[in-house]
Formats: sequence, C-alpha cells, structure tokens
Amino acid sequence: MNNRVHQGHYARKRFGQNFLNDQYIIDSIVSAIHPQRSEALVEIGPGLGALTEPVGERLDALTVVELDRDLAARLQTHPFLGPKLTIYQQDAMTFDFAALAKEKGQPLRVFGNLPYNISTPLMFHLFSYTGSIKDMHFMLQKEVVNRLVAGPGSKAYGRLSVMAQYYCQVIPVLEVPPHSFTPPPKVDSAVVRLVPFVEPPYPVSDIRVLSRITTEAFGKRRKTLRNSLGYLFAAGALDELGIDAGLRAENVSVAQYCQLANWLATHNVEPLE
Ligand code: SAM
Repeated sequence: MNNRVHQGHYARKRFGQNFLNDQYIIDSIVSAIHPQRSEALVEIGPGLGALTEPVGERLDALTVVELDRDLAARLQTHPFLGPKLTIYQQDAMTFDFAALAKEKGQPLRVFGNLPYNISTPLMFHLFSYTGSIKDMHFMLQKEVVNRLVAGPGSKAYGRLSVMAQYYCQVIPVLEVPPHSFTPPPKVDSAVVRLVPFVEPPYPVSDIRVLSRITTEAFGKRRKTLRNSLGYLFAAGALDELGIDAGLRAENVSVAQYCQLANWLATHNVEPLE
C-alpha cells in the first residue's frame, strides 16, 4: 500500500503533510487542550480533521486555517463539522490572529499539528500576536520542542528558547513517535503548550533590540559576549549590569538578555529588524 495515501488523500510533502493516525495520541492532545464550548479555538493545518473532529465536537464554532485547497474544500463539506467551521484557505504565516481575536471578542486558543517545514518561522509569527492569544498547543519536531524549553547551559538553548520564553511559559506535554503519523516523519515529534504571559516577567522596551541581540550573540555562540556583543556596548556597560563579559551566548539567561536589550535601547543604538 502507498504509505502517502491517507483517507483517500495523497499526502503532499511541500505542505508538510503527516496525518495523525493514532487514537491514543489524538485523545491525549484533545485532553491537553481541554476545549470549552464558547472559547475561540483556531486550528492551524486541520488536514483531514484528526484533531478538528474531536475538538469541533466540543465547540459551537471552530476556525481553521488550511493552505491546501483540496483539504479546505473537503472540510467545507464535512458531514457534522461543516456548519460549525469557518475555513480560511490561506497561509498561516500571513494570517492576522489579532483581527480574529477582535472579531471573536476574546483571546484565541491556537492549536495544530504543524507543518514541520515552516514550524520555526511560524512560531515567530505567532509570538508577534501573543497579546491576542490565550494559549497554544502544537505538535512539532521533538528537537524544536527541546529548543523551546531549553534553559541556559544546554546545547539546545538558543535564540528560539530566549524569544519563546520572553513571550510565553513553555511546557512540554507529550512525545510522539513517527509511526503515529501517515506517512511517518523522519524525526520524533512532541506536543508543547505555550501560554503567553499577560505581563512578561522581564519586560523589554523594544522587542526588536532583544531580537537583534540574540541573533548576534547566538550567531557567534562559541564567542564570549565581549567578542560577540562588545561592539554594541560601551566599555563597562556589562560590568554595570553585573553580567560577566566572559560568558558565552548559551550561558546567558533570558533575564540577562532582557537587561542587555534595555541597556542598548536607552543608549541610542539604532535597532535593526
Ligand atoms: N491536523 C492534521 C493531522 O494532525 O492529521 C494535519 C497535520 S499536517 C502535519 C500539517 C497540515 O498543515 C496539513 O494539512 C497542511 O496542508 C497544512 N499546512 C501546510 N502549510 C500550511 C500553511 N503555511 N498554512 C496553513 N496550513 C498549512
């Protein structure tokens, strides 16, 4: 049997299509999400409906964003979900989550078994909407979940960890093996819960500066801060902040990156995108 065909649909690689086929995993994800009838849930990449059906059953209305035209059309005519669904046939990378939250009159609960080929840029797109999002539950490559949750001193700790933990509390939920999908992906997967902070624990005055500093520091992760960021900071600035200039990027905490960003933002350095 062709292992790319699931429920009569040929899985498209370019859309990162790996469909969940494992009822135990599906049930575990739905109980982790714990949808409540009148909440504003949004699914990214509903595909053939593995999560859409059990979540949709518990709701009055559900919004989905699906890039694949054939799959979006299939959902439109779904026997019991069809009338409850609002289907956006578009790229989640360009979806305006703030406009939807406004329309719904409440913060969104976003979930999905994400297309792995765009998972990291999609996380960054979502971080820019954390003010409109109550929580997120995503299936991702396990390696990406490890990076999201990693703390200083670990190999997985990087720019994604700092930015994710700036915006959200990050909680790993469940590991998922390749055979739970059709076709099976080449890597292990995991589900993660991200809960945006109402007030970030270490607020920064300009998020673009934090973004820039982490790009610079982790771009040269083997170098000390003195060598990677030294050109941005006046002599003595790191001392003043109580941050050891001999540290490497991977040993600097989220709180320290935020301190660095706030120093830089108030010392007239042009922020870069
Ligand atoms: N939710 C289904 C499941 O768990 O079986 C399908 C998951 S599959 C890993 C990813 C889904 O995201 C596919 O349905 C794919 O067509 C859709 N997709 C891919 N790229 C997308 C994008 N940029 N925006 C929205 N959906 C996308």
